[in-house]
Amino acid sequence: MINIRDLYYEELEEIIVGMGEKKFRAKQIFSWLYRGVDSFDEMTDISKELIEKLKEKFVLCQLTFIDFQKSKDGTIKYLFKLNDGHAIESVLMKYKYGYTACISNQIGCKMGCNFCASAKIGFVRNMTPGEIVGQVLKIQKESGEKVSNIVFMGIGEPLDNYDNVIKAIRLINDPKGLNIGARHISISTCGLVHNIIRLADENIQCNLCISLHSSHDDVRTSMMPINRTYSISQVMDACKEYIEKTNRRITFEYALVDGVNDSHEDAIHLSRLLKGMLCHVNLIPINKIKDGKYEKSSTEKILKFRDTLNDRGIVATVRRELGSDISAACGQLVRDKTM
Ligand code: SAH
Repeated sequence: MINIRDLYYEELEEIIVGMGEKKFRAKQIFSWLYRGVDSFDEMTDISKELIEKLKEKFVLCQLTFIDFQKSKDGTIKYLFKLNDGHAIESVLMKYKYGYTACISNQIGCKMGCNFCASAKIGFVRNMTPGEIVGQVLKIQKESGEKVSNIVFMGIGEPLDNYDNVIKAIRLINDPKGLNIGARHISISTCGLVHNIIRLADENIQCNLCISLHSSHDDVRTSMMPINRTYSISQVMDACKEYIEKTNRRITFEYALVDGVNDSHEDAIHLSRLLKGMLCHVNLIPINKIKDGKYEKSSTEKILKFRDTLNDRGIVATVRRELGSDISAACGQLVRDKTM
């Protein structure tokens, strides 16, 4: 069986035409998919006969809504079950300019960052393009809101599920699909250098965010084991190449941990590392996770860190903390309600 939401429009059209149907049927079916239907029976302009044939060939519903929690700040966290019984979480956040969906791309994560709850749950498998995009469709259906921005900042490392994430982005972009512009999509990576370089050649105008968290290799390695494979200077070289090729500004994410990476010297060292780069720093007050050893820096220290960067010509902002009361904030997503 083929997961119909895993297909590009052109791929669907080829199969539908191969079934002896007219091309415009593919258009009708594809359009229903992105209106968020959960069954072929909802495709009211398709004949019963063709619907039966579609049911024999394709699986349609890949995500089932299980539960949601709403934060005091309006952020909503969703728990979805996938067809094989595994569950993932996705988050809907409201900003001035619209709704942002924070979506997962793997069931679990291999990267092992020691401040992130998603790393503690182990790795099960990559999510398919249809499952990735399906989160946005389900969120829109459950909330009744139109999502205008998407961040790949849920569970998983997007550049470790490269092909499926790229296909998901193209489906999200497709005017016949979700029709959300690439500039409204952000991918966050722990720094998989080989795929940062590949992404630069995809000709997708999305935003690239790099989880840096320290400008010192020893500190970064203590937080993120991936730094043993790709050191800070290797990540920086890849970022420079990315900027050169795409002319797009990179966002560096920096989760501030009390006494670990938040000193005045750390801010100065970081400003030297990023000097002259087309970039922006997004400071994240670290969120507490279960059994986590790190504590959040004080607000005073966070603002001082920001000001030190800004004073040295590095644009830095502090990320708003949304959904922390329902464990929906950065690094708090898991795949099971009981965890
Ligand atoms: N795998 C991707 C996406 C991770 S989630 C990546 O590594 O970038 C998005 C951001 O939240 C990343 O910058 C990640 O490092 C950060 N993050 C993870 N756990 C966090 C925590 N407990 N507090 C604050 N930020 C966290």
